[in-house]
Amino acid sequence: MNRPWQKNLINIEPYTAGEQPKSDDIIKLNANENPYPPSPLVQKAIAGFDAESLRLYPPMDAAPLRRAAAKFYGLDPEWVFAGNGSDDILATAFRAFFNSPEPILYPDITYSFYPVWCDLLRVPYKTIPVDSSFCVHTEDYYIPNGGIVLPNPNAPTTIALGLGEIEELLEHNTDSIVIIDEAYADFSDVSCVPLVKKYPNLVVTQTLSKSRSLAGMRAAIAIADPYLIKYLDAVKDSYNSYPVDAVAIKAACAAFEDREYFEETCRRVIATRERTAAELRRLGFILPDSGTNFLFVTHPEHKAEDIFLFLRERGIYIRYFKKPRIDSYLRITVGTDEQMDKLLSALRELC
Ligand code: PMP
Repeated sequence: MNRPWQKNLINIEPYTAGEQPKSDDIIKLNANENPYPPSPLVQKAIAGFDAESLRLYPPMDAAPLRRAAAKFYGLDPEWVFAGNGSDDILATAFRAFFNSPEPILYPDITYSFYPVWCDLLRVPYKTIPVDSSFCVHTEDYYIPNGGIVLPNPNAPTTIALGLGEIEELLEHNTDSIVIIDEAYADFSDVSCVPLVKKYPNLVVTQTLSKSRSLAGMRAAIAIADPYLIKYLDAVKDSYNSYPVDAVAIKAACAAFEDREYFEETCRRVIATRERTAAELRRLGFILPDSGTNFLFVTHPEHKAEDIFLFLRERGIYIRYFKKPRIDSYLRITVGTDEQMDKLLSALRELC
């Protein structure tokens, strides 16, 4: 067919998310979701939600959510931005902060949405190789750049940099914006939130999808100097004034209010992660220590793709990336103890 307009269509390779199973009896360990339900306060907030109020637009700035997150972190609300998941916030932040002709920097093995946004938004970028153990070396980032984005802990490698290393990175990069994507930080012992008062060019993004079990709701926050928050607001108000819906605002506020449940859920996930990691090592798997709610594993005697397919046949979905440098690795989300026992007994059969 003649399509003279073809040349004007976008040429982009989109991000691929973990497969959504068609049946309910699949053990789904492929999208880093939390195996536990959201806080009972969230369930109460949703059950008590006044549907009649949905005829009104939600608050444009999701102010109740900004206040709840600010209270949680002991900050003023001006330091918080709210969005429809951290993917939404990161895309907003790329638009707001990465407008230099210099390339932005991020690791060659990292969250695979970053190159997609760079292509979509025409942001030049340069990837910085992690070493053969998948470690990020901050000194590799002491070069001219138009910005830096770094997940901490990194995904899918699970490895976290210490606060000292992040500070070094910031000390050497005072001329550009540094975004630390803390999607998984609640499962580690490091968070850069305390650094935002010291570094006016630091932006920390966090999500309620993982540690607060709200992936289906789509809510997240960014924390930064109010001067930068204004730029995030300006971009938000230039393409979607109401990114967080009224139900999500209520649910997300309730999640921030229930600190005890949040901490207990993280503790449980971490305990299961450590037990699973030890068992996997006993089976001959090699994996870095994880600061996330997933494990990044390889086995010297079994091909990753074979393990992936073997588990898939048994109704256990994990993530396999057919990509250079990581195609011998698998990413396994930490589920409940019972789910991990099923995974381990299937792997015992294989190994
Ligand atoms: N950052 C990283 C590193 C992630 O792995 C994810 C989850 N895919 C996100 C951000 C986005 O999470 P969400 O949009 O659910 O907040």
